[in-house]
Amino acid sequence: MTIRVRFAPSPTGYLHIGSARTALFNYLYAKHVGGKFLLRIEDTDIARSTDESTRSILEGLEWLGFAPDEEIVFQSNNADKHRAAALKLLEEGKAYRDFTPKEDRGDKNIKEAIVEKARQNQGVKSMRDNPFRDLSKEESDHRAANGEPFAIRLKVPEFGKTSFEDGVYGLTERDYAEIEDLVLLRSDGHPLYNLAVVCDDIEMEITDIIRGQDHLTNTHKQILIYQALGATPPRFAHLPLILAPGGKKLSKRIHGEIVSMTTYRDHGFLAAAFRNFLALLGWSPKTEQEIMNLEELVNVFSLEGIHRNNAIFNFDANNPKRWTDDKALWMNAEYVRTMPIGELLPFVKAELKSAKLWRDEYEDDDKEWFEKTADLIRQRFFTLKDFSSQGRAYFSEDFDFDQAAIEKNLKKFPDLQTWLPELAEKFEPMESFTHDEIETVVKQFTEEKGAKLGVIMNGARALLTGLAVGPSMLAIFETLGKEKSILRLKSQVAWNL
Ligand code: GLU
Repeated sequence: MTIRVRFAPSPTGYLHIGSARTALFNYLYAKHVGGKFLLRIEDTDIARSTDESTRSILEGLEWLGFAPDEEIVFQSNNADKHRAAALKLLEEGKAYRDFTPKEDRGDKNIKEAIVEKARQNQGVKSMRDNPFRDLSKEESDHRAANGEPFAIRLKVPEFGKTSFEDGVYGLTERDYAEIEDLVLLRSDGHPLYNLAVVCDDIEMEITDIIRGQDHLTNTHKQILIYQALGATPPRFAHLPLILAPGGKKLSKRIHGEIVSMTTYRDHGFLAAAFRNFLALLGWSPKTEQEIMNLEELVNVFSLEGIHRNNAIFNFDANNPKRWTDDKALWMNAEYVRTMPIGELLPFVKAELKSAKLWRDEYEDDDKEWFEKTADLIRQRFFTLKDFSSQGRAYFSEDFDFDQAAIEKNLKKFPDLQTWLPELAEKFEPMESFTHDEIETVVKQFTEEKGAKLGVIMNGARALLTGLAVGPSMLAIFETLGKEKSILRLKSQVAWNL
């Protein structure tokens, strides 16, 4: 039998980190066994679902590279089928009409009524105390025919328990006594969540449901619906949560954009790196290997590797420089610095384009230069954004000077104000402007001045790149070329800042 899994987000916000990880684990699980990964948008909560959210979720999934293997299912299109299922259960006596007036019908009120009744019954509490549960079929039909509004509730059996073998948590059980007769269909004909999910999962022939641990109580209810409908429940695996430092829930209200997937894309993360990071958030392979591309993840993924304890998304919300998990940033840097340069270049191009630094020559006459430069400067970068910020001086004359670099490496050595333009003079007659020749000239110049090589080089770095750190200075001279090196060494702009 082909394994079929689905990712079923509700479009009530952006794609949350936790949901993205759920999608990833479903994807890896399916692909590992050659199964199918499906996508269902659970847009039945009309008041909270928005097209914008659907778009943002799809965008996030596309960025991460999880394309569904079949057409996307929109749950709201199946409402008639959900209603039919509820009516079938009613017909078969597995569900009943609840004529409780609307204002009293909410689950909370029902629970309170049950507690009240239990009090009257000397503490014997039962979830089966709904007065309409045992209404005769005739009376129920009669009241309905008279136009009295009703909700349809599942008739949860009196004694017994639901039990299933969870792919992560193992044997999981719940006594029927703890499960209320849940509403399947509201009095306005609106099918409720648990019914819709079960009907759709049956229709989509889902074999394995992998979702957040917050759905555990729903799972017990859903198993009851499967049983009532005469269908075999799929296998279930529940994923531990991803929490904020300190163990709080990760939420947009408190943690803002940190929680949203598109934030990472917009901050210059590589999808491959973020995917890799997400995979390790609560799962580990049997080996020590941490850097894994999608294919490797697919090959080694198994539910056994999922940790039962909650994962922590580690960030310091008070420090804007540490707006993301340190490991996520480290992972991204690893990818930026070590992935085959040919695979990185399209991302660098996109970044330069969006920063208006891109020139078509980079793919034509200056192709080799562009590749070499990107390869040189990426060694200290963390995100793609660094190519247009820290890397700006390589692609534009209009770059900023870091004040600290100017103070520390330039102004502290006033001699440099004449020396560096003099060094530029030494460059003028050079015919070949490559590493070894530049080194000879710079060393000779340094000796002539009785200066320290480091002082000259750091000063030059500040003038040529605006920064205190970066690639080796000889490589910077060579990359920028003779003309730009001379121009920038002579420039007084930084001195006047
Ligand atoms: N729509 C649910 C959610 O976004 C998930 C339902 C499920 O996976 O069964 O939390």
